[in-house]
Amino acid sequence: MPMKYQIYTSRNYRQIAQFENVRKEHLRDIDVVASVLPFKTNNYVVEELIDWDNYQNDPIFILNFPQRGMLHPNHFETMARLIDTNADASTIKEAANIIRHQLNPHPAGQSHNVPEINGQKLTGAQHKYDETMLFFPTQGQTCHAYCTFCFRWPQFTGMDNLKFAMKEVDDVIDYIKVHPEITDLLITGGDPMVMNANILDTYISRVLEAKIPHLQTIRIGTKSLAFWPYRYISDPDAEDVLKIFEKITNAGITLAFMAHFNHVRELETDAVQEAVRRIRATGAQIRTQSPLLNHINASSKAWSDMWTKQVKLGMIPYYMFVARDTGAQEYFGVSLTRAWEIFRNAYNKISGIARTVRGPSMSCTPGKVKITGVTEIQGEKVFVLEFIQGRNREWVNRPFFAKYNPKALWIDDLEPAFGKKEFFFEEELAAMLLD
Ligand SMILES: *Cc1c(COP(=O)(O)O)cnc(C)c1O
Ligand code: SF4
Repeated sequence: MPMKYQIYTSRNYRQIAQFENVRKEHLRDIDVVASVLPFKTNNYVVEELIDWDNYQNDPIFILNFPQRGMLHPNHFETMARLIDTNADASTIKEAANIIRHQLNPHPAGQSHNVPEINGQKLTGAQHKYDETMLFFPTQGQTCHAYCTFCFRWPQFTGMDNLKFAMKEVDDVIDYIKVHPEITDLLITGGDPMVMNANILDTYISRVLEAKIPHLQTIRIGTKSLAFWPYRYISDPDAEDVLKIFEKITNAGITLAFMAHFNHVRELETDAVQEAVRRIRATGAQIRTQSPLLNHINASSKAWSDMWTKQVKLGMIPYYMFVARDTGAQEYFGVSLTRAWEIFRNAYNKISGIARTVRGPSMSCTPGKVKITGVTEIQGEKVFVLEFIQGRNREWVNRPFFAKYNPKALWIDDLEPAFGKKEFFFEEELAAMLLD
């Protein structure tokens, strides 16, 4: 059945019929947390994905609706007091901005990856790893719904001067032309699939017309299949979008549709399955990725179910990420030890066809670091780590070791094993970041 896209935010969410049965204190929690963390959902998520009979523990409810535990208790109290006393909007906004700035809004040294062409910075692009250039089209800087764990939230709250956005795709093309090492253009956001077909077509056509010989793959990073599959079924420009995908594959360029899914529930509706069929029929491949999130998918079964279902629908599992050190990390964070156990216990239950997935991986300043495992070497318990991706390609696939720390949530919590002062890449990384 075609569906008309209806957005819910902190302003109108109480209109959602299912909220009649939601406890009053939960509504207040939503209001308080939403004053700091932006919140947006839509009628597909509300009507087809959330299990309202069990909403308090429902992974999709937690994925879209702010939860009390997502703020530090003292931050929560500060905002609650302002809201309970009907403070004016500017006071609330000021207090919220102070808290936001304490939540590490710019992780992973992203400001170091801004490429330059003809003496000009391409602020809507990133080039961190040799083969892949990231492009953030201006009109793709929002999403069909917001994930409560999202590290990109600074750009949704209107506070971000660094907002990676750029109208001009031509500079990106010029840049790729003189960088023969780039084989992949990754269009990301926000979610580029919030763009209408006309705008998307403008970007894609210009790239295709440039006929860059070394460009092999266009990737589109998107959560639209999970949040709004009607984008490919009944939106007014759904057919046009699919034609754009065909145009890419007909030009001999691989279209890798990088789909973000967090839970098997997102793969179960008729709408998502129909959308997957339509996208695959354009010749695109669909690869999947997700962070590992406490309260949403922190069990090996959640992952083996999800990967198995993805393969059944013709998708290729690609990455499991460790939740980043920003926003509500204390709520969503899973220790590196546990992340590895969850990965391993899911990975060993799935077909080899699904074992294309890699992780658990931390996207951090030096690269994508995978927790290969925990073991003991000469009496010392260690994490075995390796780069899946590195700022220097020579770092990739070289095992290195950190002291075992059962509480570690992120690479910052790790120290080199065997009494070493630093990890093998640190000196070189420091020099790179000075550039
Ligand atoms: C993950 C990522 C890529 C893509 O890396 P692949 O290993 O090719 O998937 C590119 N750029 C950045 C900044 C990334 O984080
Ligand atoms: S879809 Fe992606 S960019 Fe959008 S809110 Fe979710 S994680 Fe963030």
